[in-house]
Amino acid sequence: MARVYNFSAGPAMLPEPVLKKAAAELVDYNNTGMSVMEMSHRGNEFIEICSRTEATLRDLMKIPANYKVLFLQGGASLQFAMVPMNLFKKYKKCDIVHTGTWTEKAIQEARRYGTVNVLASSEDKNFSYIPDLDKSRFSKDADYFYICSNNTIEGTRFDSIIDTGGVPLVSDMSSCILSEVLDVSKFGIIFAGAQKNIGPAGLTIVIIREDLAGKPLEITPAMLNYEIHVKNESMYNTPPTYCIYMALLVFEHIKSLGGVPEMEKINRHKAGLLYDFLDNSKMFKSTVQPRHRSLMNVPFVTGSDDLDGRFLKEASKKGFLQLKGHRSVGGMRASIYNAMPVEGVQALVNFMKEFESANR
Ligand code: PMP
Repeated sequence: MARVYNFSAGPAMLPEPVLKKAAAELVDYNNTGMSVMEMSHRGNEFIEICSRTEATLRDLMKIPANYKVLFLQGGASLQFAMVPMNLFKKYKKCDIVHTGTWTEKAIQEARRYGTVNVLASSEDKNFSYIPDLDKSRFSKDADYFYICSNNTIEGTRFDSIIDTGGVPLVSDMSSCILSEVLDVSKFGIIFAGAQKNIGPAGLTIVIIREDLAGKPLEITPAMLNYEIHVKNESMYNTPPTYCIYMALLVFEHIKSLGGVPEMEKINRHKAGLLYDFLDNSKMFKSTVQPRHRSLMNVPFVTGSDDLDGRFLKEASKKGFLQLKGHRSVGGMRASIYNAMPVEGVQALVNFMKEFESANR
């Protein structure tokens, strides 16, 4: 069967050349006579794969030397607990900008361990925008400042980096990591589940400024202690070896295309195609205020459940899959991560045009 255009929010499409390379190496990796899946995580072959994965990511994101890269498990959701457990060092307090479902979960977790100051929220309009921030309300005594840079469900994105005045900025970048050029040095911690822009589900990448690892809360289990993972170079226990190898193939693929600047250029072009169409359509419309529109997740609605349903059904017959919107927003959502080709977005736009003319 031909490959479909998969607009899933995650686990999401992977680049076809990566899947083909993995398939070719599945049974016998590099003349070792075994699959990467079968290798000891302490053996030379796998250690080489792991260090190449880290080096390639460092190169792609220009990660400064005083940051550590960790390959962990437990999804981005476990970071909602690990961040407060490790960062509530002095005041046991953080500032959070509440922008949707995933910050709600981060707030709930952080509240177990300290005080959460919700600085601003866009809940009044179903999280369809990123709220303005009043700097005078930033806590002077916060251990960290927390945001979700790209809100996968609501389709919003921060368009600039907040100046927190020295408080470590922590960002959930699960759905935007590697999609646009980023100054890592402006952050204390960046974390991301792998299953959107990195590889298969099962791996979580944490990029942490080295001085922030250490002195977690007393109750912190070893597996949730960043310092232990730093000291053991992500090998405190068995890491998700095959996911790390797949991440390496994705990173090498991004590098071969010209790195993150090129990905950003393509991503802006893809998102532009969709938003331009939505802004000119009489049937479909974007649910997000223009300034804060995500480059990765594009929710849209017709305003009629019946029409949405018919659209989804016909789209899936034509090979445009996983377009159903999250229930909290309704309608449709096209997730157009790095691996979605421009042709996929163009084909979707063409199909939406046809659907609109046929159902006027
Ligand atoms: N944060 C964001 C922004 C997400 O999109 C997701 C998953 N879709 C999560 C956190 C939760 O990730 P996981 O399922 O890996 O725990």
